[in-house]
Amino acid sequence: MSTHQTLHVVNPATGEPISTLPAASADDIAKAAERARQVFTAGVWSRLPVRERAVVLLRLADLMERDAEILARLDSEDAGKPITECRTGDVPGAIESIRWFAEAADKVFGRIAPSGPHGLGLMSREPVGVVAAILPWNYPLAMTAWKVGPALAAGNCLLVKPAEATPRSALHLATLAAEAGLPDRVLTVLPGYGSEAGSALARDPLVGALSFTGSTATGRRILMAAAESNFKGVSLEMGGKSPQVLMADALAYGDELIDNMIEAAFLTTGQNCTAGSRVLVHRSIAEEVLERFTAAAKELVIGDPSDSRTQVGPLIDRAAFDRVAGAVEAARAGGAEVHTGGLPHGLPPHGAYYPPTVITRAPDGSDVLTKELFGPVVTVQTFTTEDEAVRMANTTEYGLAASVWTRDLDTALRLARGIEAGVISVNAYSEGDITTPFGGWKQSGFGGVEKSTNAFDQWTREKTVWIRTH
Ligand code: ADP
Repeated sequence: MSTHQTLHVVNPATGEPISTLPAASADDIAKAAERARQVFTAGVWSRLPVRERAVVLLRLADLMERDAEILARLDSEDAGKPITECRTGDVPGAIESIRWFAEAADKVFGRIAPSGPHGLGLMSREPVGVVAAILPWNYPLAMTAWKVGPALAAGNCLLVKPAEATPRSALHLATLAAEAGLPDRVLTVLPGYGSEAGSALARDPLVGALSFTGSTATGRRILMAAAESNFKGVSLEMGGKSPQVLMADALAYGDELIDNMIEAAFLTTGQNCTAGSRVLVHRSIAEEVLERFTAAAKELVIGDPSDSRTQVGPLIDRAAFDRVAGAVEAARAGGAEVHTGGLPHGLPPHGAYYPPTVITRAPDGSDVLTKELFGPVVTVQTFTTEDEAVRMANTTEYGLAASVWTRDLDTALRLARGIEAGVISVNAYSEGDITTPFGGWKQSGFGGVEKSTNAFDQWTREKTVWIRTH
């Protein structure tokens, strides 16, 4: 690689270096796109019968299963994610994605237009060609798999840029893909910096489609780069400030409610785009909910991510710590009450640990209410009417997800209709399963473009063939 830069992968739990890798330069990206273009045009993958592509991807899924523990450890070490989350969530989810898209690939049909007797319009979905994915660090392997599965099943050649902090699981995935028989250059993993490699991908004239998961600020830059270069099709999966709406009867769900609230707020140490970071609770049950919720938050096991008992690990780095701590201190200074059990003794001094924190009486407009903090911090606000709940839920520039809790079906459906978000779960904290679309509204993204057969839309383009009949 003609690279001058290096990436330093650091363990967020200790601050210790893990590995140093060459970082792809803009030139490396251009060359990789060029080679991928040659492979795409040669048809060794794109023109392979779709069943044969599926067989390779199914083999890849089997190899991921074989190496599940390796993959779990790579993500846990690089991202500081609790290993149990990686073992039970990220890695099985990634394997399921690859399998599901492999199996779905030959079940997506084209269309025939309802034209008259003198013409036949055939609409088929064609691979785009060279495509790219720019990935976040919070679900390194899982997000890679959401993109690799449909992009490769559809016949594209994919360039993947993992996040700076978490390149190793995607690199391992690429070695497994080679072992599974994927032709060279169909999947190219290019670790690198966003400002250099990411930006080069967004501007590359050969990249026809780009799927991004990350912050709203970066998504905006990528969309502008696409507009300024070749109008590549961009799909954006960005931030959130998702509400958890608890109606007056929500406590009927008892511990299940509290457990789901905890998961919504603190999974991946709150560094989750769908984190339920705003609890909106009916005034009549607010006191009891707050008491049970804060008690459960204080019981979470904070510690070494490689310990299977750990539920809350460190933040990704010290900059994240400073951002989260700064927002909480500003809220406190503005009159907010901060409920936290603090950190246990004996954590490594250079780990970016921040304790699970619940905030009440946050001042209007404060960052803890409006900004995506990406940390284990959740606000609790009260409402009295359903209209007020919907209004508060929608008071955000984001629209990724929401959960609503009530035993009344009509209330649940009214809330689900009223809340502006791409994914709404009723009586659960959930993003659905692999068969349901995922994606945000408003400044969270372009709607449900990931998971489900919708995912093929971002990696294919429709072609109309018009046949004159006589
Ligand atoms: P965070 O701020 O949490 O790291 P980002 O949205 O910046 O989130 O990062 C998500 C991904 O976007 C990473 O892979 C990162 O390298 C990449 N990235 C950052 N800046 C740019 C950019 N200007 N153009 C393209 N990709 C970028």
